[in-house]
Amino acid sequence: MSHPHAFDLFVIGGGSGGVRAARMAAQRGARVALAEAAALGGTCVNVGCIPKKLYSYAAHYAHDLRDAAGYGWQVGPSHFDWHRLRANRAAEIARLNRIYEKLLADAGVRILRGWASLVDGHTVRLQTTHGSEVFSARHILIATGGTPTVPAVTQAELGVSSDAMFDLEPFPRRLAVVGGGYIACEFASIFRGLGAQVHQLYRGEQILRGFDDEVRAFVAGQLAANGIDLRLHTDVASLQRTAGGIRLQLQDGSRLEADTVLFATGRVPNVSGLGLEAAGVRQGRDGAIEVDVHHRTSVPSIHAVGDVTARVQLTPVALAEAMAVVDRLFGDGRRQMDYDLIPTAVFTQPAIGTVGLGEQQARERYGNIRVFRSDFKALRHTLTDSRERCLVKLVVDAASDRVVGLHMVGPDAGEVVQGFAVAMRAGATKAVFDATIGIHPTVAEEFVTLR
Ligand code: FAD
Ligand code: NDP
Repeated sequence: MSHPHAFDLFVIGGGSGGVRAARMAAQRGARVALAEAAALGGTCVNVGCIPKKLYSYAAHYAHDLRDAAGYGWQVGPSHFDWHRLRANRAAEIARLNRIYEKLLADAGVRILRGWASLVDGHTVRLQTTHGSEVFSARHILIATGGTPTVPAVTQAELGVSSDAMFDLEPFPRRLAVVGGGYIACEFASIFRGLGAQVHQLYRGEQILRGFDDEVRAFVAGQLAANGIDLRLHTDVASLQRTAGGIRLQLQDGSRLEADTVLFATGRVPNVSGLGLEAAGVRQGRDGAIEVDVHHRTSVPSIHAVGDVTARVQLTPVALAEAMAVVDRLFGDGRRQMDYDLIPTAVFTQPAIGTVGLGEQQARERYGNIRVFRSDFKALRHTLTDSRERCLVKLVVDAASDRVVGLHMVGPDAGEVVQGFAVAMRAGATKAVFDATIGIHPTVAEEFVTLR
């Protein structure tokens, strides 16, 4: 049989969404190509979730070593080796890059190294070091992710984005973090744990907008207790290089000096040079590709998933969207993405795990709600001098008794909340939580003993 197109699916971008879509489509018998301009695995593998979590583990040792004394351990003088951590991380990421390549190749995906752009709804141009080549495809999937954005601050170029944080040279003794979102809070915690003096500057009233208000305030208190100089209502006006580092001029007239300034002020879709206008793909705010419930763009043969659509910027969401597209194009089309009850974690010290609505959001949606909470010191810290505390909180719709929000701040919050997210997806009520036997002694048992 002759095919009118060289490929059934041409995927642009080899990150979380792109790799998953390419692999799944090829496994279903489609002829698939994937173009990647940088390293396979995208943001998550190279400069996101994975190296970030590895560095977060590294930072936790600072606490563990200190806590050990309360349990009778006399730990000798300890020393943190930034270069060792960097090298070990780089080796692990290189291993993951190779695994991604093998997974794609084994599935029969043709991997194309280069920059891809749209010519029209069925044609992609690939720019490589050797020149350019044009490919035709029945379907095109755009999964080009996002890129950090930096505010309009004078000499902002003296600062860096999260991309640069993994290989800083030398280790920053003084770090200023601008922002109050996921990345700002996680990197503030990581570098504080690794021994830096950290200033976190946030323009608004409280960090982590969108999370439950009590969780936000609780975490802010914990970050401060860990020695992070968290300054709210603080805007940066300019940066200036000095003999000793970088001077931050703040809007209130005060100054601060740091070795590194991290702008963790959000990410925008990666769309420049993609040829979206030429192909007629409609875009929204910040250039985000507009898609319908089936992830179809305004051009029916072109789909888009992940951060480039600027909806929920999380790896498991990009993966689920990719699976839905592949299922629709090459499967039975039964899988549809549901954006309700997406669990998430912020890997601060202590970490946040959350699923569902915050107290205020729930009140607005359901009116009559019941809130159950507990704020306590975990058993683990009864023998240490740590000031770390835990918060667990349930938000219940009074009419249906359904648990509509579940929040935790404490050790391994992401691990704990993942399980409860299943219960909530199954529609668990507070009565079901109450009827569940706890596992003692754990932090997680609090969720089933709240009365
Ligand atoms: P990406 O993974 O960004 O992949 C896009 C790929 O497309 C890139 O490899 C890029 O090089 C390539 N590309 C772009 N344009 C072209 C082109 N024209 N031609 C060829 N290739 C192109 N999410 C979580 O769920 N948990 C976390 O703990 C977490 N931590 C994070 C920490 C940090 C510091 C950051 C920045 C993000 C984090 N995220 C986390 C978010 C997560 O990384 C993203 O949501 C996810 O990677 C999005 O996947 P994607 O497929 O949309 O894009
Ligand atoms: P976020 O959108 O989470 O946070 C951006 C922060 O920057 C907010 O505090 C915002 O303030 C502030 N900000 C925005 N513009 C300016 C400005 N002009 N001047 C000063 N401050 C500004 O983005 P991140 O960059 O932290 O992360 C991007 C996304 O990546 C996250 O939303 C998340 O989806 C994903 N991610 C997920 C992680 C995880 O799952 N653990 C970890 C890291 C990232 P304001 O609130 O006032 O707008």
